[in-house]
Amino acid sequence: MEKLRYERPLIKRMENEMPNKYGGKADRQPMTHIDGLAVKDLLAEYGSPLFVMSEKTIRSTYKKALKAFTMRYPRVQFAWSYKTNYMDAVCNIFHQEGSWAEVVSGFEYDKALKNGVSGKRIIFNGPDKTVSDLTKAITNDSLIHIDHLDELYTIMELIDKLGKRPRVAIRVNMDTGVYPIWDRFGFNYENGQAWDALNKIMASGKMDLVGLHCHIGTYMLSPKAYGIAASKLSDLALGLKRRYNHEVKYIDLGGGFPSRNTLKGSYLPASDTIPSFEDFAETIASALLNAEFPPDALPLLILETGRALVDEAGYLLGTVISNKRSSIGKRTTIVDIGVNLLFTSFWYNHKISPAQEFSSYTEETTIYGPLCMNIDVIRESALMPLLNKGDHFVVHHVGAYNMTQWMQFITLRPNVVLIDLEGKAHLIRRHETMDDFEKMELLPAHLKNFDL
Ligand SMILES: *Cc1c(COP(=O)(O)O)cnc(C)c1O
Repeated sequence: MEKLRYERPLIKRMENEMPNKYGGKADRQPMTHIDGLAVKDLLAEYGSPLFVMSEKTIRSTYKKALKAFTMRYPRVQFAWSYKTNYMDAVCNIFHQEGSWAEVVSGFEYDKALKNGVSGKRIIFNGPDKTVSDLTKAITNDSLIHIDHLDELYTIMELIDKLGKRPRVAIRVNMDTGVYPIWDRFGFNYENGQAWDALNKIMASGKMDLVGLHCHIGTYMLSPKAYGIAASKLSDLALGLKRRYNHEVKYIDLGGGFPSRNTLKGSYLPASDTIPSFEDFAETIASALLNAEFPPDALPLLILETGRALVDEAGYLLGTVISNKRSSIGKRTTIVDIGVNLLFTSFWYNHKISPAQEFSSYTEETTIYGPLCMNIDVIRESALMPLLNKGDHFVVHHVGAYNMTQWMQFITLRPNVVLIDLEGKAHLIRRHETMDDFEKMELLPAHLKNFDL
């Protein structure tokens, strides 16, 4: 018989844990496999840490969201939010499913073009579109969502120069009952800025005003806020019809639906509290259908959903480096994943599962990353079973905003793998090397030599 591992005895306060809707404490299972592949084997082949994306989960989540909306509203189009995850393989899965591209910089715009998205199917958002970005977007007939008057005037100048009629929309910000209002982007609905911009566009006669856009926030927990946004944009659309006999083709409600990650400070797990795609779809569809659009002139509903479509499909696999006791005796575990890779750990309590069998003993544990920085904390306090040096674990729901906001800091960024529908792993981004660095750095000649 194999000798059992010694676990030091400890007196521990009994905790009355909050039951969730399934009863007692959930998730006492190790996560040994992802889409049929062993975590142990993935780490052996691609190194630790390792990001893993599940093609199956991306496609099934997308289909679920699309169905929730198309069952309730006849004309729906998703546009993939590049900044949420612009790994080419991930973007192309969304494009294969029928998503357009939603970009917020020249870099993302070029990435979408390179992925093969036609200029006509790219929505260009954000406050920082350079003259060269706008020139490209106008030439390619992309959908330009104007953020401020300076951008509007730049476009007007370019129209005269390029002799083209751009397709534009304005971004609108508004009071949806969720505070603080995201009023830094676009034109305000309540104070008349939005009408001011619309009137200027219509008066110019040089642009096709094709849509109205908003993006009211992120990780929004209130379907009602989207209902209000849909009604306010509908009101602008109907006003354009009355005043100019002009029909906009689409209403774009942006992104912002929450993912299944639990926010820090939240009482219950997100899986028990966040509204479903159906809840959002119901409120949005009702608001649009109850506005006074003629039945044969319903606007296309565009959604730029990011995190809710991809977060669950991403995993971060890692390895335990060491265990310690803090000065007050609290268990601390040091792992090879730092906040430079897991940017979202600043606002989420990410779920972490051991990747191998473990004992039933659990203890409040602080999980530290490997960086020599005090801020490198993955979980302040997580009720964890004993993890030993060399053990593997899986961080859940990391598909959104980590592979774009990660930082090269102290160490190099790791491999990213996609598991396809047949359960085969593909490397979709190789780890960084010293070579990559040397390509970017230049050393002035007078600094080349020293004598130590
Ligand atoms: C970031 C962003 C999105 C995606 O937001 P999520 O919260 O990830 O759904 C959509 N539209 C715009 C304009 C954005 O800036």
